[in-house]
Amino acid sequence: MREFLKRPVPKEKAGQDSGRVADRVSAILTDVRDRGDAAVRTYSERFDKWSPETFRLSPEQIEKIVADVPQQVIEDIVFVQEQVRTFARHQREALRDIEVETLPGVHLGHRHLPVSAAGAYVPGGRYPLTASAHMTIVTAKVAGVPRVVACTPPIRGEVPAATVAAMHLAGADEIHLLGGVQAVAAMAVGTETIDRVDLLAGPGNAYVAEAKRQLFGEVGIDLFAGPTEILVVADEAADPFVVAVDLLSQAEHGPDSPAVLVTTSAELGRAVIEHIERLLPGMPTRDFAEPAWRDHGEVVVVDSLDEAFAVADGYASEHVEVLTENPRQALEKMRDYGALFLGEGTCVSYGDKVIGTNHVLPTRGAARYTGGLWVGKYLKTVTYQEVTDTSSSAHLGEVCGRAARVELFEGHARSGDVRAAKYGNAELPW
Ligand code: NAD
Repeated sequence: MREFLKRPVPKEKAGQDSGRVADRVSAILTDVRDRGDAAVRTYSERFDKWSPETFRLSPEQIEKIVADVPQQVIEDIVFVQEQVRTFARHQREALRDIEVETLPGVHLGHRHLPVSAAGAYVPGGRYPLTASAHMTIVTAKVAGVPRVVACTPPIRGEVPAATVAAMHLAGADEIHLLGGVQAVAAMAVGTETIDRVDLLAGPGNAYVAEAKRQLFGEVGIDLFAGPTEILVVADEAADPFVVAVDLLSQAEHGPDSPAVLVTTSAELGRAVIEHIERLLPGMPTRDFAEPAWRDHGEVVVVDSLDEAFAVADGYASEHVEVLTENPRQALEKMRDYGALFLGEGTCVSYGDKVIGTNHVLPTRGAARYTGGLWVGKYLKTVTYQEVTDTSSSAHLGEVCGRAARVELFEGHARSGDVRAAKYGNAELPW
């Protein structure tokens, strides 16, 4: 019997090298460190059959690519980027720099400073994920990041024109047609042609996510944004057809994408399964959606909505759709999720493609400890302090001397002693 609500372990692809994802990623990272651009080219050729003269697009190439994108596609990109920008700006404004006086003349403050350079990874293995360009690049620019480097792979040997247009319109400073571990490694450690960045952001497949995990520390990472997942909480009032369509909307991301329904109604559960079975054969993306549903689709029937919210929290899903009579209840009842979609008026696809909240979200339970990408991830909250009152400094010096000696830090203690002596007429104890 399959274990209940257990996430898939990333599988090796049949026919390719054996060895675990982590080992293979580690080998590529080492090679990019050692051989720079030459290694990047090796893996781009191997995995993407892509080896142009340079991976970076010139302004002329970008202009030509963008000019060929249909006008409606450009208008939609502009519309969506405006939604993402507007919400990110509000989020930025909510982050205030502060300075407070905690004792007479003791001033403590914090400021939010953008990183100097950010790398935006825009996935493109199975689908050209144009929307990830809005999410990573627009948000970085709202944060004030001066240099944003954007990478995306060619899709089946072709330039993903709409994605390049989205990167350009979002304000990317460099655009490289480069994917997978080699792209992430190049941005993180730097090569002869790509200067390294300070922070890497963006979703990706199991290889990309593992590369970011291994690089964390050497470079900042946004979060663990691996294979997409959806969980729907529904009661008997939900429309089973809508639930079925929405579950499949995320299953189509790939065969490792879980789609889970938690419902108080067994009848609804049965109806959703029937709709999915009817819909699957006609889905153009059946090759991904069907294995995802067969291997990782689940319907969990519970006794009450409280139990449904508890089960959903326990799973800590990237996306949670709440299709119940009073969906806003979830705001009170739930705490572990990447993004909540309240009621039938919205859906995960709106979050993914149009509405303006960020779609780069925690997967595989990472929602227990982090939210998704947002303007704050590109900012460092740094502190400063100043003491303008000598008697406060003298008092802090005395306490510092004692506190540091408890820890056997004589050098620290003496910095306190000096001030206590200078500003408080105390004797130096050494
Ligand atoms: P991708 O760009 O992440 O990966 C494609 C790259 O993988 C290729 O360029 C190739 O270089 C590399 N690759 C392929 N096979 C390899 C191998 N055997 N060894 C090493 N590298 C290899 O695109 P994708 O594969 O379509 O995956 C995108 C993922 O992003 C999906 O899983 C999707 O669910 C996820 N996603 C997540 C979020 C989120 O916020 N969590 C949002 C959108 C998408």
